[in-house]
Amino acid sequence: MDKQPFQTEVRQLLDIVIHAFYSDREVFVRELVSNASDACEKMRLKQLTGGEIYQPEKELRLSITTDEEKRTLTISDTGIGMTRQEVIEYLGTIAHSGTKKFLERAKEGKEQAGDLIGQFGVGFYSVFMAADEVEVTTRSWEPTAEPVKWVSDGQQGYSLEDAPADTPRGTSILIHLKEDAADFAKPNHVRYIVGKYSNFIGFPIDFNGELLNTVQAIWMKSKKDVTKEEYESFYHFIGHTDSAPLTHMHFSADAPIVLNSVLYVPEENPEAMGFGRCEPEVSLYCHKVLIDSKPERLLPEWLRFLIGVVDSDDLPLNISREMLQDNSLLRKIAGIITKRFIKHLEELAKNDVDTYNKFWERFSRFIKEGVVTSWEHKDALGKLLRFESTFTEAGTLTSFADYISRMKENQKDIYVLFGANRAQLEHSPYLDPLKARGFEVIFLTDGGDQFVVDSLIKVDDKQIKAISRADLDLPPLEATPDAPGLDESQASQLTAWLEGEYKDKLSKVTTGDRVSTAPAIALLEENDLSPDVKAYLKAMGQTVPETHPRVEFNPHHPLVVKLAELREKDEKLGKMLAAQLIDTALLRAGLLEDPAQLADDSHRLLEKLLGE
Ligand code: ADP
Ligand code: MG
Repeated sequence: MDKQPFQTEVRQLLDIVIHAFYSDREVFVRELVSNASDACEKMRLKQLTGGEIYQPEKELRLSITTDEEKRTLTISDTGIGMTRQEVIEYLGTIAHSGTKKFLERAKEGKEQAGDLIGQFGVGFYSVFMAADEVEVTTRSWEPTAEPVKWVSDGQQGYSLEDAPADTPRGTSILIHLKEDAADFAKPNHVRYIVGKYSNFIGFPIDFNGELLNTVQAIWMKSKKDVTKEEYESFYHFIGHTDSAPLTHMHFSADAPIVLNSVLYVPEENPEAMGFGRCEPEVSLYCHKVLIDSKPERLLPEWLRFLIGVVDSDDLPLNISREMLQDNSLLRKIAGIITKRFIKHLEELAKNDVDTYNKFWERFSRFIKEGVVTSWEHKDALGKLLRFESTFTEAGTLTSFADYISRMKENQKDIYVLFGANRAQLEHSPYLDPLKARGFEVIFLTDGGDQFVVDSLIKVDDKQIKAISRADLDLPPLEATPDAPGLDESQASQLTAWLEGEYKDKLSKVTTGDRVSTAPAIALLEENDLSPDVKAYLKAMGQTVPETHPRVEFNPHHPLVVKLAELREKDEKLGKMLAAQLIDTALLRAGLLEDPAQLADDSHRLLEKLLGE
């Protein structure tokens, strides 16, 4: 038997690995399984190039066995194996100069020892977190190589001896587990860990005699080689569900980053079903080996409904959670995937309207959240928005692109109206001047739509304008024959009187053509917050500034004509009527602070009218 000391750096590394408390001790299983898989992959490549190979007929596979009684775990492969020289080189010295530097810094106290595994693929040596002793028996693929056995307790050195002549090609690692690592001899525990990290490696894993990895890493395949059934069954597997996904995206890129990804939109929105906020369910892999099953900041928050896999060869396998959080490569990956997924939705909307509409019905909230929170993607997301309008049937959706294609020649802006539902909006007096000009108005009936519009601001250089605001810049109407109503001087006397009466509440009182079906309408001035935004601020416990809207009267409405008369003949009654007209206008705009006052006032008015 040949006794050898470890290279100094190896001893230091082992010392740190073993003694630093490392919470994810289980990763040693992943490291050894990854090495075994690498060994099989190298063998596969060797076979392709031809030449003489020891035991060429041997199937490439991994085998894992547990023995609770003996407290051992064995991980074997039929891969490339190692020669005596290779064993000495690979398992007794550290080739990575980066590791060496790190060790020097750690010794000087400049690095946290606990981060070590997070920083480097310490790989093989991580086994000593759980092992008292490790026996590596290996036989190289080279026909003339001798099988060898390497044994170490991970302290000072290792011993090397000849292994039996009938040792098969490949490597077998027998791990004598520490007392406090006895769990790694328990079949269920090991099956769980192997399943978690290594379920998708490219070679079969035999676990205590049963095939473990039956699901393929379909994201690494070419799209044309994956059937619909395979996409579905993979979804069932990773989504822990029996239902079919609503849609999926399979995306691969070689530049600027090697990326392979399959993402699914589930059939239902779990948040709408009352299950609370979704947890991100897109796992991060490096060449089929799991890095993190729930990386927190992989994709933006608003994509939290996605389920799937992102795999990048460019990521270091042993990157720690902390490092994932501010990894610029990861941010790039997120940017690429997000862009590509938005494009996928665009294509879906074009090619499969039914499915897109289903998606919209269930997941629109997330897209809107994206518009509000994701500055760089908001314009692309704006194109995905759907809504009803004055030009659509109830229940039929349209997009900004369609709206723009229908815009009139003299129409500059995109017009929207907020409200609770279509039925209410269809009868809104705010529509009057738009209808008169034949302009389409979009109905926005979701609570957060105000924020969406505030974030979007414009679509294709066309401003989005809420038609409840005072500053609508509408083209003039073609001259209509004079309708009966107030003349200019009557109108200005009326507005001057009302402005005096309401100077604390209203910014201005005007007459004009912003309303034709009602006597008066309240219009938000530039500084006025919309009712939605006010409600939000209030809910957040912030002080809400007062609104000072403008009220515009319709000079042709009989009640307004009557009001002008009363101003001169019966000012008291005139004030009562004015209060009614103004308060109902505010009510319609969602701006009435005190509905009880309006109710009392209208009862008093009725009493007066009926009593006379
Ligand atoms: P890494 O995998 O990052 O190279 P490891 O510490 O995990 O680092 O392994 C060191 C080296 O030992 C590997 O590069 C490989 O050459 C060799 N090795 C480890 N396990 C095996 C195995 N099962 N079969 C063949 N060679 C192996
Ligand atoms: Mg390794």
